[in-house]
Parts: sequence; C-alpha cells; structure tokens
Amino acid sequence: MASITIYDGAESIGGNKIYVEDGGRGVFLDFGMNFARRNAFFDEFLSERDGRGIHDLIKLGMIPRIDVYRRDLIPSDLDELVPSFSRLRPEAVLLSHAHLDHSGNMGLLDPAIPIMASATSVAILKAMRDVGPADVTQDVAYISLRKREGNGLFLKTDRKEAYKGRQFCCPEGCRSELCDFLSDRPGSGGKNTKAFDGCGICEELSLPFEVKSYNVNHSIYGALAYVLRSDEVSIAYSGDFRIGDDAKQLPDFMREAKNASVLIIEGTRAGREGDAEVTEPMVYDTCRAAVEDTKGLIIADFSSKNFERLETFRRIAGETGRQLVVTAKDAYALYAMECADGVCRTKGLLVYDEISDKTRRKYETDTLASKCPIEYVGHRQIHDDPDRYILCFSFFDMKHLLDIWPEGGSYIYSACEAFTEEQEIDFVKLKNWLDFFKIRPHGFRFTDDGLVFEKGYHASGHASLRELAFVIDKVDPDALIPVHTENHKWFAENWGHVRPVKNGEMLTL
Ligand SMILES: [Zn+2]
Repeated sequence: MASITIYDGAESIGGNKIYVEDGGRGVFLDFGMNFARRNAFFDEFLSERDGRGIHDLIKLGMIPRIDVYRRDLIPSDLDELVPSFSRLRPEAVLLSHAHLDHSGNMGLLDPAIPIMASATSVAILKAMRDVGPADVTQDVAYISLRKREGNGLFLKTDRKEAYKGRQFCCPEGCRSELCDFLSDRPGSGGKNTKAFDGCGICEELSLPFEVKSYNVNHSIYGALAYVLRSDEVSIAYSGDFRIGDDAKQLPDFMREAKNASVLIIEGTRAGREGDAEVTEPMVYDTCRAAVEDTKGLIIADFSSKNFERLETFRRIAGETGRQLVVTAKDAYALYAMECADGVCRTKGLLVYDEISDKTRRKYETDTLASKCPIEYVGHRQIHDDPDRYILCFSFFDMKHLLDIWPEGGSYIYSACEAFTEEQEIDFVKLKNWLDFFKIRPHGFRFTDDGLVFEKGYHASGHASLRELAFVIDKVDPDALIPVHTENHKWFAENWGHVRPVKNGEMLTL
C-alpha cells in the first residue's frame, strides 16, 4: 500500500519534507528548512547552536522526530531519545531545487541517503558549500564530520577526518566538467587542510518508484518537478514553479501527471487575489527605465540565486554602457553552473574587490583564478566613474558604500516584498543609507501608511492563481494536496477533491 506523509511544509511557505512510500520502501521529496518556524524562535543574534548538532532543532520541533539524521550530529543527551524516533529508510531525497526552504535541512541527513537533483542544482549546492560558513545547514554537498567532546554534549569538528562527499544522481547525466568540480574542494590537499574525497555521482538509482523529472521555470535555475509511478499509484510533485514566459517543459510534466492519483502542488500565492502578474520582460522594461533615468551609480538588489534576474541586469548594463559588478561568491556560483550546463555566464562581468584583511579565499585564488579568470574592480574606480557600473549589492553590502562614497545615483530593489516586521526595519535602515548618500530608491518607498513596494521591479518565482488553476485543471488528479502554502482554504473553495494534510499526517492511497 502506498502512502504520503508530510513531515513539514504542509501549512507554511517552505520547509517541504514529504515522504512517499510504497510497499515499505520510500523516498523524500525535498528536505527543506521551515523559515517561519525558525524565525519564531531565532534571530540574527540568537541561533541554533552548531556544536549541539540536531539537539536544538529536535527540542524545538524544527525538524521531525524520525531516524534519518547523521550519527555524528547526535549529542550524548539525545542517545536515549533517538531510538524512539520512527525509523525511516528513505532510499533517496528527490530535490526540486536549491532554495534553502527545500534543501536547507539536507545537511542533517545521513550521507548514505543519495540525492537526486538536476545537474544545475548539484552545482549550486556544491558552490554554496565551498564558499559558505562551515555550519551544518551548509553541509549538503559534503560534510564536515563532528566528534563528541568530553561528556559528549558538545560536538566538535573532526579536524583529521576528510570531508565526506554525498552521493548525487542527476537524471539528465553529469558533464565531465561538473564531475571534476564535484571531486575537488578549493584549498583541500594543501598543508594543514582536511582532505576531500569528492562527491559520489551515480547514473541511476534503483528506487521503489519509476521516477521522471521535468524542468520547470522558477526563480532559480535547475528547478525540477517529479512524477513517481508504482504499479498502484502515480504521484506528481510540482516543487516550486511558475508558468512564466518560456515554460517549455511544463506541458510535458502536465501530460505525464495527467489523471495522477495525487498532485502535490505548491500554493505560495494561493488566495492572493489582485496579486500582479509581473513577468521577467516587464521587470526588464521597468528596471531599464530606472537605469536610463539615472546619473551616477546604480545599485541593483536581487536574490543572489536569482540568476535570471542577473541576466536581466547584465543585459540592461550592456545596453546602457555600463558593466555589471558582482561579488566573488556570485561569480563562483556562475562558474559552478557553467560546469553543469556549459553556458558561460561570467564573461564581461566584474567582481567587486572589497577591502578585507584576508588574502583572497581559496575559491577565488585557486578555482576562479585558474578556471575562470575574472576581472576585479575596486572602490576608487567606481567612485571615479560611477556611470559605468551597475553594482549587485543588497542592504548587507551598504558598508562598502563608505569606501566607494558615491554621490547620488539609484538603488533598484528587485526582490520580493518584506513580510516580517524585522525585514521592514531593515528597509528603514536601508533608506537611511540611501538618504545619507542621496541615492534614489526604486521599487519601494515610504508613505504616510508605511513601506510600499512599487510594481514592476520584481516577478515572483511562483505560479499565480490563474497558473495554479490551469495546471490543476489540466492534470485533474484524483486527490489534490496543497503544500508550501498558508492558504488551504483557497484550494478547498475551488476544487472538490482537495485532501488537506497537516504536518505529520499520513495519507494512505
Ligand atoms: Zn523556491
């Protein structure tokens, strides 16, 4: 008998952890971080203690009590609790895409569990691990093993053990450049550095379901939807998607998913009546007008993983006599994706040479310098010639303006709207920075009613109401399970066969 258990993500936007089982064998669809739950307890200066492994997350109910986690993340005070967790043996995690609300808890998983993902997603995960801080949320592509200290309550990084690579399976295959990228860690192999044996790559996994994957359009490259089939059932999972402008493969997904036993679909924008349907070409038009209207420096603020938006600004820069300036981390992620799909995305880009006491990081000095040479631009050059650049910065980069010292210019906010009070406070601070340098904001403004976002500067990565309805009607499943949503009601009001599943609930098929 087949069943679906949604361990998380049923009633929140993100945190998807969906276990699908048939005849006692199962796979996870995503294993993401639930940011709503995390933000309920934690803050910038109060976070889960890395040295306590999974302790804090388990105790606060931020991850489910199931026996799937890394042994080295279990401190001694959980020794008695863990055996009571339900024992699951997932044969793989099928990752839809590399946003943290879908992938952010995968670093906690037993590395014996292989990960199926698009080559692009694997490249992004590896790049994030190479450049990121060494905490467990980043331990997806490879892990840094911990060992117990003293009474075993504190888990310390094992300095002697090599980094352990995870096993990946890319349905569309893996280019040799990506295999090379996955087998090397910048800096490893040197003196006083831990060894790295590389990630494993397998061509095919023997799974309890026949699995087919489909590229879908989302605000990150490499997003997949899946259709799982066994003798008894067919389960379609949309991941995060939008139809957008060129969803060439969505029709294939809908054809394969047609009359599925179950459609598990995201509903981020469900119930948001009047939500503007902004597309990427519209964003291009709006942002280009703002650039043309500006004398002086332009700062473009968009999500670091929204590579499509980066292309939009690169195009605008090229057409308005400017050059796009990104961070070294951004350039490294672009290089990683090139390894996956062969598309060169770094040509013509400049990297901001920030003032720092560290020598450049290994991913810059080793990998980027040898494989993908990039040109740097410093604060003086930008100060002297601000009309020549579009800087890809966000609020957290405002400190660099103290070195660049721009006079006027524009700040284009091209990302999603603030939805928490803390984020709104960041906008107040951002506005102070912009006022200080007489930089004009685009995409948001403060009115007597508070913070207002201007339309046209950002296109959502998620399906609109019309797009959700279109896909659901086309697929016409026996049962519809909304996830990644705060609005089950909208689905229930519009379709008769909705099966609202709560977190932790199992649905037998
Ligand atoms: Zn997403």
